Amino acid sequence: MKVSKKFKWEAAHRIPWYKGKCQHLHGHSYKMEVEFEGETDANGFVIDFHELKKMIQPLVDELDHTTIISEKDTELKQVFDDKKWKYFLLPFDSTAENLCKYLSSEITRLHSATLKQHSITAVEVKIFETETSCATCKADLK
Ligand SMILES: [Zn+2]
Repeated sequence: MKVSKKFKWEAAHRIPWYKGKCQHLHGHSYKMEVEFEGETDANGFVIDFHELKKMIQPLVDELDHTTIISEKDTELKQVFDDKKWKYFLLPFDSTAENLCKYLSSEITRLHSATLKQHSITAVEVKIFETETSCATCKADLK
């Protein structure tokens, strides 16, 4: 059985080395779907949707209305540091794939006890950078 919940946030980013539009600072209305796989408990839940939201929302709040900057993008980071503007630092480029891997690993790292408690066997994260562009990452917990 699988249960999932959708989340969304607004953020700016750029891919500094990219030859094309994405090298310039621009924004996305990101959407994410987080799916937990497991058997239902005595109450008929894989996990309470409310509990799922409580686990994930703080990660989304950290990203919301920030500029996501790669550690390697020292030029942009310098501007934001000088201006004291809010940003979210990633150790890698902010592609949808990397964001997906990052969020998937954060969810399994921060919530390993809760996932185990609910016998969750897999966590799948989908990041929609646009309406039509999506990256998917599955963490198998078995
Ligand atoms: Zn983009």
